[in-house]
Amino acid sequence: DNSIDILIVGGGPIGIACGIEAKRNNLSHVILEKGCLTNSLYNYPINMSFFSTSERLEIGDTPFVTTNPKPKRAEALEYYRRVERKFDLNTHLFEEVIDINKVDGLFLVTTSKTSYRAKHVIIATGFYDIPMYLGVPGEGLPKVRHYYDDPHYYAKQKVVVVGASNSSIDAALETYRKGAEVTLIIRGKEVSPRVKYWVRPDIENRIAFGEIKAYYNANITNITEREVEFDTPRGKKVIENDFVLALTGYRPNFEFLEKIGVEIPLQAPCIPHHNPETMETNIPNLYLAGVVCGGLNTHLWFIENSRVHANLIVSHILKSVNS
Ligand code: FAD
Repeated sequence: DNSIDILIVGGGPIGIACGIEAKRNNLSHVILEKGCLTNSLYNYPINMSFFSTSERLEIGDTPFVTTNPKPKRAEALEYYRRVERKFDLNTHLFEEVIDINKVDGLFLVTTSKTSYRAKHVIIATGFYDIPMYLGVPGEGLPKVRHYYDDPHYYAKQKVVVVGASNSSIDAALETYRKGAEVTLIIRGKEVSPRVKYWVRPDIENRIAFGEIKAYYNANITNITEREVEFDTPRGKKVIENDFVLALTGYRPNFEFLEKIGVEIPLQAPCIPHHNPETMETNIPNLYLAGVVCGGLNTHLWFIENSRVHANLIVSHILKSVNS
């Protein structure tokens, strides 16, 4: 029998945590990651700081040392890469899982490169691959971005930032400080209460001083090459525009989960079926781990509170192996 004990889909922090837990318990494992190691973190904004302190991002009982109050993206990349190496995990990068089927009691996992047979599968695919689209005309123009990386690019440009959460507020402040002319378009009535408490006074003051323009209860209706149109409580507005940063959130790949047979309720937040005590889905021996578990509620799970999934799952697997 050359099947793998635990096959892990996704090489993010939680996928790595699951690999460590398998290894510690002498279960064979493979981690399959479609991009580079910790692909989501790699694609975060270059200057991004975590809202968690570093000890809350630790996995494998390995200290995450930093002299910053909150670690930065570059430090997190360094940390998770070193942890993966420390535990000498079996991680295959740039290999995407395309399909998973149960054949004769084993999972047959088809990837972009080959196929595997596994006794247990853990889906730790996160939610950062698919943006929540605005669904307005012009969204496909090259000037509209759903991921933001570096502020310098936007110097001297008229930038519309859509959204009121951490990603939007960070992007608005950073691009403003590099000389962009920034307009925030916010669907609700205020900047999100979830915005990092130490960032809030900064954005509130920039708006109060008119340095960043903000429209509340506003909805984009059309984007063209040179302009953006939006509805406000005082009527329709059209402003000149060079770039749109539509940072309106991301969602898990429900299509992939459905294809492999995981049940997903139609009603929001569409939390994929799993037993919260074991993380097992409706498919026996197939588990969910990490932020994918929250469905559309991407504020439910973080690295902080989902790193325990690794332990819950491997304990459950050990029980079934030993019984
Ligand atoms: P991910 O890190 O998203 O890993 C999933 C991996 O699966 C990805 O690398 C992806 O490429 C891969 N994948 C997807 N589909 C496939 C496939 N079919 N085949 C192979 N590989 C696949 N949390 C905190 O605790 N503290 C913070 O400060 C914090 N800050 C955040 C800031 C931002 C901007 C964002 C977006 C999230 C933040 N989070 C934070 C939330 C959360 O911790 C992160 O989303 C974290 O990356 C989740 O880890 P994960 O391993 O569950 O998923």
